[in-house]
Amino acid sequence: MIDYNKIQVEISLDNLAANVRRFQGVCGTVIPVIKSDAYGHGLAEVTRTLAAEGATTLAVGYVNEAVKLRCLGWTGRILALLGPVDEADAAALWEHDILAAIANMDQLSRVAGAARTRGRLDICLKFDTGMRRLGFRPEGLAALVDALRANPALVPVMASTHLASADVPEHEANVTMQAGRFQSVLDGLEQAGYQVEANIANSAGAMAHKACRMDSMRLGIAMYGGNPFHGTSWEERGQGLLPTMQVSAPVLHVHTLRQGEGVSYGWTHVAGRDCEVAVVGVGYADNYSRSLSSRGFMNIKGYRVPILGRVCMQMTVVDVTGLMGEGLAGELGDGPGVRPGDQAWLLGGPAPGTITPEDLAGWWGTIPYEAFCLLGMNPRSYGK
Ligand SMILES: *Cc1c(COP(=O)(O)O)cnc(C)c1O
Repeated sequence: MIDYNKIQVEISLDNLAANVRRFQGVCGTVIPVIKSDAYGHGLAEVTRTLAAEGATTLAVGYVNEAVKLRCLGWTGRILALLGPVDEADAAALWEHDILAAIANMDQLSRVAGAARTRGRLDICLKFDTGMRRLGFRPEGLAALVDALRANPALVPVMASTHLASADVPEHEANVTMQAGRFQSVLDGLEQAGYQVEANIANSAGAMAHKACRMDSMRLGIAMYGGNPFHGTSWEERGQGLLPTMQVSAPVLHVHTLRQGEGVSYGWTHVAGRDCEVAVVGVGYADNYSRSLSSRGFMNIKGYRVPILGRVCMQMTVVDVTGLMGEGLAGELGDGPGVRPGDQAWLLGGPAPGTITPEDLAGWWGTIPYEAFCLLGMNPRSYGK
């Protein structure tokens, strides 16, 4: 966690709970995905909220995240999506009662070896139906079933696969193809005598593809208020989710930039006219990307203010002329004015200038997932 700045990340657990509730009952069991410190929202706090909302299974990435979740006191089921990567991970599955995804024969032999001394272990079989990242290929099902039969202590209770492009309307046929391959795997498992809980959907899959809802779904970005369909023809399918993260930094200094003066490193921005600028105490050391230089906006008192020139390590300059009226810095005109100590919002903030995760990610050249994970490493507080 970053602890050397004055940034405030405000998390709304009420909004997170409301987003989860939208999915409960609509489709099978919701498995909230809280990998990577709950997408930067805080593992412990998000877990408490999800427990209160009746979640029974939570999904993380690595086994060590699962161990941490167990040590926080979570007694429900934990799914480790990445499975064990070493012997310590494998041992932890028994020690902390973790359901791990097993995605290849090496992982299977590792847990089979440990099962000889430790006994029964429930596992989740992960299949690669098109993502080409992790998982057993459907063609290898017969060999997998043989390996399972040879190791009866390993009990498959879940089967998963991951969609490559559930958020892309033009790729609807790919989703259907992946779902079809997964269904044939499930049929094969059933014929072999294995009854499993099946899940394929991430947020986009659950929202856009009803057939993908199955027994359970792994809900990530939608729970954190991100619209997976932003900028596509399906945009409205992801509307109405509530924002869960806002981020602000303090204004440090306000002054006049004269016409013709350059500002910040390299003078990449030169003032075309006299303007009022505010120096905000946030930079790339706070995970506020330098790629926002002369591209992004902040929100001060509901006004969108553009970033001028380069984002520095701990500072960024914005044009606040629109808030200052006609006067120079400090002599306020019609606008609300800006003073050192005022809050500049990098994400969220008051209307009408509220910055959505999609706005910020767009200027940044990334997706809301990355903006949440990175900005969430700053000091957080929790509220309504
Ligand atoms: C992260 C992740 C999810 C959640 O995806 P969202 O797009 O955030 O809903 C689901 N399944 C797997 C395997 C993941 O790694």
